Amino acid sequence: MCVSWEVSTRILQLPKKNCESNSRRAVNRGYVTSLLRLHQDWHHQDVTNTYVLIRRALLLSLKHIANLRSGREAFLAAQGMEILFSTTQNCLDDKSLEPVISVVIQILRQCYPKSPLPLVTPSSAYAFPVPGSIPSEPLCVLTEEDFEDDAEEEVDKDSDSEDMKEQDDDLETDVNKLSSKPGLDRPEEELKQYEAMCLELSCSFEELESKPGDDLNFEETQDAKHYHIPTATSPTQHCLTEDQRSWGQEREGMVQTSLLNMVKMGRSAMHPASKKGPGMNAYQNMQSNGLGIDSSGKEIPDIQASLKQDAWDIDVISCPLMSASSNSTRPTETAEVIDKLLQTHPKHVPFHDPSLYMAKARRTRSVADFKRMAFPDLWGHLPPPSAQSMLERKCGLQRIKILEDVRRLIQPSDVINKVVFSLDEPWPLHDTASDCLRFSSKFESGNLRKAIQVREWEYDLLVNTDVNSSQHQQWFYFEVSGMRAAVPYRFNIINCEKPNSQFNYGMQPTAYSVKEALLGRPTWIRMGYEICYYKNHYRQSAAVMGGASKKCFYTLTFVVTFPHNEDACYLAYHYPYTYTALLTHLDILEKSVNPKQVYFRQDVLCQTLGGNSCPLVTITAMPESNSADHLEQFRQRPYQVITARVHPGESNASWVMKGALEFLVSSDPVAGLLRENFIFKIIPMLNPDGVINGNHRCSLKGEDLNRQWLSPSAHLQPTIYHAKGLLYYLSSVGRSPRVFCDFHGHSQKKNVFLYGCSIKETLWQAESPVGTSTLLEDIGYRTLPKILDKLAPAFTMSSCSFVVEKSRASTARVVVWREMGVSKSYTMESSYCGCNQGPYQCTQRLKSREQMERAHQIDGLQGLQFGTSELEEMGAMFCLSLLILELKSVSCSHQLLIQAATLLNADEEGLDHHLQR
Ligand SMILES: [Zn+2]
Repeated sequence: MCVSWEVSTRILQLPKKNCESNSRRAVNRGYVTSLLRLHQDWHHQDVTNTYVLIRRALLLSLKHIANLRSGREAFLAAQGMEILFSTTQNCLDDKSLEPVISVVIQILRQCYPKSPLPLVTPSSAYAFPVPGSIPSEPLCVLTEEDFEDDAEEEVDKDSDSEDMKEQDDDLETDVNKLSSKPGLDRPEEELKQYEAMCLELSCSFEELESKPGDDLNFEETQDAKHYHIPTATSPTQHCLTEDQRSWGQEREGMVQTSLLNMVKMGRSAMHPASKKGPGMNAYQNMQSNGLGIDSSGKEIPDIQASLKQDAWDIDVISCPLMSASSNSTRPTETAEVIDKLLQTHPKHVPFHDPSLYMAKARRTRSVADFKRMAFPDLWGHLPPPSAQSMLERKCGLQRIKILEDVRRLIQPSDVINKVVFSLDEPWPLHDTASDCLRFSSKFESGNLRKAIQVREWEYDLLVNTDVNSSQHQQWFYFEVSGMRAAVPYRFNIINCEKPNSQFNYGMQPTAYSVKEALLGRPTWIRMGYEICYYKNHYRQSAAVMGGASKKCFYTLTFVVTFPHNEDACYLAYHYPYTYTALLTHLDILEKSVNPKQVYFRQDVLCQTLGGNSCPLVTITAMPESNSADHLEQFRQRPYQVITARVHPGESNASWVMKGALEFLVSSDPVAGLLRENFIFKIIPMLNPDGVINGNHRCSLKGEDLNRQWLSPSAHLQPTIYHAKGLLYYLSSVGRSPRVFCDFHGHSQKKNVFLYGCSIKETLWQAESPVGTSTLLEDIGYRTLPKILDKLAPAFTMSSCSFVVEKSRASTARVVVWREMGVSKSYTMESSYCGCNQGPYQCTQRLKSREQMERAHQIDGLQGLQFGTSELEEMGAMFCLSLLILELKSVSCSHQLLIQAATLLNADEEGLDHHLQR
């Protein structure tokens, strides 16, 4: 060794502990250079890796020094980045050097000069003038304190344990707060206005003839429509074969028993690998909707013939204008191209119609006044033919990515750093001749603020914060075009906010190729590899964050190899579902029902701040006749209230809702029973403005609407104010819902689960000294999740929680529970990622428990990522669970029990057994 052992040990003794004065002394005495030289020497001499622990100790001393600003400066001045970077280059795969490399990576991350994000302002690129509030624009100043312990371990662990600790401090232990019922938050007279949204309670159905006991048979065999029941096992039908078509006669039977069969057969029947019969021809049902559908089933050849691939003007097609624009810069960019395209649209996307979508899109109001539509939203989506498993993560991937980032700093020769897209600057920025990718996000739900070409095939992307906010960057949805096929493009979204992400645990972003869609595969799929999510070197000063601690940012990095040259692809955080898609869907649903059987009504709950209507849907069965008995039965049906998408970034909630809605109007006999026994009040999108403008979390006022339920304002949080008003009204007429459930998406956990409310469980978990033995509480809140645990393959009881947190006091779940007295009040959380339990934990069908366990040991990540089918199935299963819940309740009518027993093809005894009453 060329440096004396004595010096080594002396230095090693110095900043061994994370002690500021020791570190300071080491810096002042110039030990940084010595330590770096020692590291190099050991690295070169210790070829057999005998002294790994000494080398690690050396580096740990450096790491402590690097906690100091002066230490980091000394490190950079001594070419520390270059030295550590070069010494790790050849030994990244050497397992015996692991203890050394992990510290090197930590030091490199720590010393990478911190900088503010490359944005003109940390607040949103879009501002919306909220009535009565002055938007403040904080200054962006980067201040770095001298001593900052920013060190972090490069570990792959879930932050769940941390969450739990925080959660315990957050539990509401004030029994009075838990059990008292606050009074109305508004004058009682105001509730009258909601009568108009509950016309079912007063309608006399004069158009119906009074024929008591008449079994109305509305030309059922001719007219009845056989809907696509959203189950993940339904094979998707891109184009039906003649075999499938001829099978149509028998279809009814299949449809009628599909969901019940699953229940009877248990979860295993739901396995994605299992086949339960030919697909349901959903688009044939649409014929009566006047959509001019040709059911010849030859759409795909048609489109290829009429639109030759080389004639496709992808630039015009891929992000079409909502209407023929006279000031278009491109003469070809007229309605003609899109009209021609729509004529050749393969009409096999169930419950979708591009022309209707376009008409609706023109009336959707956005802050940035979007003129274009994203192609996937216009054209529609069909689930992929098979489920996609979670991505296996390559070992050491994160450090490879971090070293690539470090290389920008120390080997800048190939760094381009060219802004190619920005909402803050005139658009387009790119010169058409250049070879770089083109980006766009000016469409509904779009979110991309800036794109910087870093290296030839690498782009840094920044997403926009929520409107009128300087945070909540997570949701992204943008179009990218001008690519070359088979080139691995690396994308880095560098201003993500959450400290961890399912992107570290097998989740992939979603992608939709326009060329693939034109070739007959209009499908959002999970795409991308080399995915990881880690803290980067960007910081926002405390001043910008309103005095809170300095904000860190995270990079989501992924590589995409596009399928076609010069294609246009859309990339998103999760399967998009726009407000316009909802309006289109609701109209098609309404037209699809037999109005003599299904009572389907759309009301406008209110107007949003952005000037959009918030739809309220009522679904039940028509009364059998207008006889007094039938009307009485109709009006006495209990309510079920379901809401969704208060958080705009949680598009998974909309897919679950879509499944629920389609199921509820379907011809499935379970749906029939549900309609005959309940009135469903559904608010499918509580935050339309947020969804339209590409927000992740907030309303146009920049607030989380699910923290506004305690005292919402009619002017500032209209959808919450009126959703609460409607619930108040139902409660005031003695018709509080049996179940209230608000659908959400969860970014940290897998599977689907419920959050409910229980005083006792809250006090127990908080280890509160308050005795709970005298507290009376109906334990019925656990029944619904238990049913779902048995029924729904994606659902797991083990992630459910029934505690009431202080920080959740103003959420829908807690307010509806406490103020409306609805004991079964829930939030349903669906993972963005997928399942690691139940039938969806493996993509292969594994027969035995041993096989399952072995598969898990080999690869703990194996599991299914959610596709839209699995999410829609969850919605249908949720509805089914409401029926089972009723069957299990003591108030369940004998008649319903008999009907259910018939449906289940079981005697009552068997049903009792099945339901475990
Ligand atoms: Zn949420």
